[in-house]
Amino acid sequence: MDGRTDFDRLRVWRDEAVARALSWYRAVATDRRPAKFRIAATIPVDIAPEGAEEAALWPVLERATPAFLERWRAIREEGVDLGPRVAPSLLDLCHALATRMLARCTFCRWECGIDRTRPGRPGACRLAAESRVACAFPHLGEELVFRGLRGSGTIFFTSCNMRCAFCQNGDISTDRDNGEPVDDEDLATLVWLLRRRGCHNINFVGGEPAVHLHRITGAIALLAAGFVPGDRGEALRRRRIFDPVTPPPDRPVGLYAGGFNAPVLWNSNMYLGEPVMRLLRILVDVWLPDFKFGPGRCAVTLARTPRYFETVTGCLELLAEWEEDVLVRHLVMPNHVDCCTGPVLEWLARHLPAAPVNIMDQYRPDMFADPGSPHFLERYRGIARRPGARELDAARARARKLGLHFEEVTFERRTRPG
Ligand code: SF4
Repeated sequence: MDGRTDFDRLRVWRDEAVARALSWYRAVATDRRPAKFRIAATIPVDIAPEGAEEAALWPVLERATPAFLERWRAIREEGVDLGPRVAPSLLDLCHALATRMLARCTFCRWECGIDRTRPGRPGACRLAAESRVACAFPHLGEELVFRGLRGSGTIFFTSCNMRCAFCQNGDISTDRDNGEPVDDEDLATLVWLLRRRGCHNINFVGGEPAVHLHRITGAIALLAAGFVPGDRGEALRRRRIFDPVTPPPDRPVGLYAGGFNAPVLWNSNMYLGEPVMRLLRILVDVWLPDFKFGPGRCAVTLARTPRYFETVTGCLELLAEWEEDVLVRHLVMPNHVDCCTGPVLEWLARHLPAAPVNIMDQYRPDMFADPGSPHFLERYRGIARRPGARELDAARARARKLGLHFEEVTFERRTRPG
């Protein structure tokens, strides 16, 4: 026995670029290292977060972050012990910040500034404080590094902060009443069940997970404090939120130093502001940004999202500077290879060259771009078909010429998994 798990034996890890780029994620997925949220729970903060104003909390985050980064580095590189949980901790502070932000919401780049805790005009995501989950299950359709052998523990939140006309999760992203409401305990239960079912990560997605930040931090704080679901899981199954799909694993998964452990995967459109990024830096073990549109007007005409390119690249620049584990997705769209695919790949080659890239070929017209739908709008005629072979070839040729690491994750389904 060499101590490696079946997950470690996946063929994809033989690709050095992938293994290097996602080394932290892999160590947490296999419980060789604690997730970042477990580390954050060991970092003390010099303020009692409950009751403090948001403006007083941000400087504390700034002050505590270097200590967190130093302990993360020591754990990652030297394997030092995790240390005891403290209170109040940096993790408590993150949850308190997210809760305060909800009352003047700046969870994403829209920076609506509205109070989501009271009835009133909603922001661009159309949400108040309630979070709804459409479904949660071990996802066997994600990239091999994420789905592994037992699935990616995916939690689909309702609603989104972007308006992609072609959204393939339109029922979830555009209908804020889809799914079932969840509180912090429900969400912690879903996370716990998915991981104990053997999932390799907890994949927060939507829609967009950032618009549910207060709920996510609440659930994570509970899990770090030793939360155990009891019979809540059965209730969630009865409410049809949770579908276990896979049989239980042969050996316990999701334990580190006696506490719950799981890598947090942030599956996001990255239409986020810098303050939220600084908070997420404490919680996220691996980032899965969806980088779709180039610097022209395509994000406005196809997704009604202004300042898209500068916002997403701003977030990705931070990830590069922070040396985070990142795998980028780019969806090739018909008639958008020159204006979107080209500039996106060029930007990645220049600023995030070590990140594996999945150049996705599965675009199909949906929602307002689907000519067969009663919702079809003529102005989306240009994206009302699948991308052609020539467009896909051109995208891959561009990536190859730029030296991007894309072949292993883009073409993995043509090879056996292990
Ligand atoms: S999450 Fe974004 S879109 Fe929603 S209210 Fe907050 S800032 Fe606005």
